[in-house]
Amino acid sequence: MSVEEQVKEYAKQGKLLTHKCTNCGFIHLSTAYYCRKCGSKGFEDVLLEGSGKIATYTIITVAPAGFEKYTPYAFVVLQLDNSDLKISGFMEGIATPNDLPVGSAAKITGFDERGIIIEKQ
Ligand SMILES: [Zn+2]
Repeated sequence: MSVEEQVKEYAKQGKLLTHKCTNCGFIHLSTAYYCRKCGSKGFEDVLLEGSGKIATYTIITVAPAGFEKYTPYAFVVLQLDNSDLKISGFMEGIATPNDLPVGSAAKITGFDERGIIIEKQ
């Protein structure tokens, strides 16, 4: 299974596959050859729970080509529980700020052409 397929499989289970530098502990979301922080080449896979709280988001009402069928949606930033990590992803059905108060609990539920899929908990 390719790394991308692994990421998708884990996302369906609500988990986030990351790559942790074995030297300094910096966590990379995508495969890297060198640590962005210390330059080390050693990595280990770390699975994080894909749940957290909404830190901020942008509501998309004018979608890019191919995404019209998904509107309205929000491009959200999720602050993960038990981690310093923030990830961005796609949340459907968000039309106004009343639909999604900042701080709402949310979690990763999948990964597809839209990227990481996040839903309210
Ligand atoms: Zn490092």
